[in-house]
Amino acid sequence: MDSRLPDTSREKLEAWLRYYNDLNLGEFFIDRRTMGKRSVKPREVPLQTTAVAPMAVAAAATSAAPVGILPVVQAVSLFEALDRVEGDTLELVRENLGECTRCRLHKQRNKIVFGVGNPRAELVFVGEGPGHDEDVQGLPFVGRAGKLLTQMIEAMGLQREDVYICNVVKCRPPENRKPEDDEVATCSPYLYRQLDVIGPKAIVCLGGVAAQTLLKTKDPISRFRGNWFDFRNTKLLATYHPAYLLRNPNAKGEVWKDLQKVMAFLGLQPKKSSR
Ligand code: URA
Repeated sequence: MDSRLPDTSREKLEAWLRYYNDLNLGEFFIDRRTMGKRSVKPREVPLQTTAVAPMAVAAAATSAAPVGILPVVQAVSLFEALDRVEGDTLELVRENLGECTRCRLHKQRNKIVFGVGNPRAELVFVGEGPGHDEDVQGLPFVGRAGKLLTQMIEAMGLQREDVYICNVVKCRPPENRKPEDDEVATCSPYLYRQLDVIGPKAIVCLGGVAAQTLLKTKDPISRFRGNWFDFRNTKLLATYHPAYLLRNPNAKGEVWKDLQKVMAFLGLQPKKSSR
């Protein structure tokens, strides 16, 4: 491995190589004779918000204001093209994950939290990683934050079973700390495969870690939440994590506005009040 690479790039590359090895895709070689001869550099372009054509409510979806410049590399990635697995299924992704020991998170986990919900969901929620309750039950978002997420889903006129819910990392980080970059790099290929298999119309990232992982940015979520982005031809919107809302209930209004954009795009009607 090239020790001149910055740590995060090296960790990411190592994680990808391990992952391809797991898939039996063979080894990668660099033709050193051609190194240094290529003049084409990846293009640095701003992370673009996208205009969304709403399916039902015309007005709501056009309100996404463009955000500022977020530096990400959006050149076509070899990894992105390669990590699509022909004939992939959620069962196969789970099988390939196995009783994973690829990163340090396995040491203290109780259960792997793979994901749950409709395998053909139009809407996928992506969180950060399992907490205590999720680790015990092996299911995502079943603790306090999960109860709030369930309320949010129901307010959108849906049931939990209608959507798919998963996380960036599948094992609980100790003390609920944020997952480290190398843990995210090791685990996120399985998330990409889950998203590719499900093929939702929209992805909602819950919190900064999910959004930063999928959008490949380090910018704080406050800079881009509530705006539509393109993630591999799927619309993606980031909003605050339900755990953040438990600590900051005043932010619930902003999250509800974000969810209304998603509803407009998917043609959903809000849940009717029982009164
Ligand atoms: N927080 C997350 O990000 N994911 C869960 O599954 C639970 C809490």
